[in-house]
Amino acid sequence: MKKILILGSSGSIGVNTLNVVRKFPDKFKVVGLTVNSRIELLEQQIKEFRPEFVVVTNESKARELKSNIGNLCDVLSGNDELLKAASERDYDILLGAIVGFAGLQPTLEAIKRGKRIALANKETLVVAGEIVNKLVLEHNAEIIPVDSEHSAIYQCLVGENLNEVEKLILTASGGPFLNKDKSLFENVTVDEALNHPNWKMGNKVSIDSATMMNKGLEVIEAHWLFGLPVKKIEVVIHPQSIIHSMVQFVDGAIKAQLGLPDMKLPIQYALTFPERLQNDFKRTDLPVINALNFFKPDFDKFECLKLAFEVIKVGGTAPCILNAANEVAVEKFINKKIKFSQISQLINKALDKVENHSDPDIETIFECDKKTREFLMDAGF
Ligand code: NAD
Ligand code: MG
Repeated sequence: MKKILILGSSGSIGVNTLNVVRKFPDKFKVVGLTVNSRIELLEQQIKEFRPEFVVVTNESKARELKSNIGNLCDVLSGNDELLKAASERDYDILLGAIVGFAGLQPTLEAIKRGKRIALANKETLVVAGEIVNKLVLEHNAEIIPVDSEHSAIYQCLVGENLNEVEKLILTASGGPFLNKDKSLFENVTVDEALNHPNWKMGNKVSIDSATMMNKGLEVIEAHWLFGLPVKKIEVVIHPQSIIHSMVQFVDGAIKAQLGLPDMKLPIQYALTFPERLQNDFKRTDLPVINALNFFKPDFDKFECLKLAFEVIKVGGTAPCILNAANEVAVEKFINKKIKFSQISQLINKALDKVENHSDPDIETIFECDKKTREFLMDAGF
């Protein structure tokens, strides 16, 4: 029986994790759940999964939940309790499904305890990949990716030698604007941008998919997870999202992992690796899918993707600046404060003006995230 702590249980990945856990009551026990504020959903989750404790980062929501559920479980509140959950509570696997930079610190706490981290929060590796890798080695921790592309690559690499990898091929659906002319980006609405053709995800990652920043973040994530230079990472548009990603080896062989676009499988794999467990999830019916297509991405149209390739070459805190500026820009777009086409402009501005630090320590990363947000606020964004 593995004890699981789920950070971000009210989100798209959090809910899907519980959909997996529900299927294997004799394999997993949910010991803790955390959310930012959606206490109605959390209350249902508490009643079904009976965790020992929950953390609600929003303090007034935590009080409200406490009065609703009495002593069904410990209700803790605030960011410090979130960190303490990761650093002190008893669990085997941390499922990291908080969105954005906020996911970094609790993940680091779990790494320092040598835990298995089933990592959905790609931003952790984007902003601090090098530091994370050092800590994972030092503390004998384990990061198993939940992101479907990285899970696919992870699966393709089982039994293989990393030195024999020629390149990683990350597939990208291309998002809702794959076939839209760039001149129309000026006027796309939030609803159009949120309407992903293949995946139902949280707002931030949905907008990231529309700008293709998501694929950019995933290139950086893959670089740190698999220790390969970006020149060995290629992005290919594959609109059906059936091939989740591929690995090409030095002899020219390509291995791929296929499946329906459903996060339950990569989540399950990250929880059970190296085992595979029988499940009843819907199977891929290839004749029904009929055709799989592949195209080169358009870097001029999707500038965010280009910027992500650039920051990893620059190194230092550049990926952290990119990430923070992107989080600010996406939030502003969702709140209708800027246009879709301004997202990449705002990120460019931050990359241009916020000072880059080479070889940053973790304090420098936190400082850089804060400085970037302040810069954009001061610059009137
Ligand atoms: P979401 O917005 O649906 O959920 C985010 C969760 O994080 C919620 O539970 C929320 O309460 C919590 N949260 C948000 N801000 C917080 C804060 N400041 N402190 C503590 N908790 C906070 O997001 P999601 O779509 O589930 O994505 C989660 C992560 O997984 C992201 O990093 C995303 O890129 C990654 N991911 C998601 C998908 C997907 O299919 N949704 C696929 C691959 C990777
Ligand atoms: Mg992905």
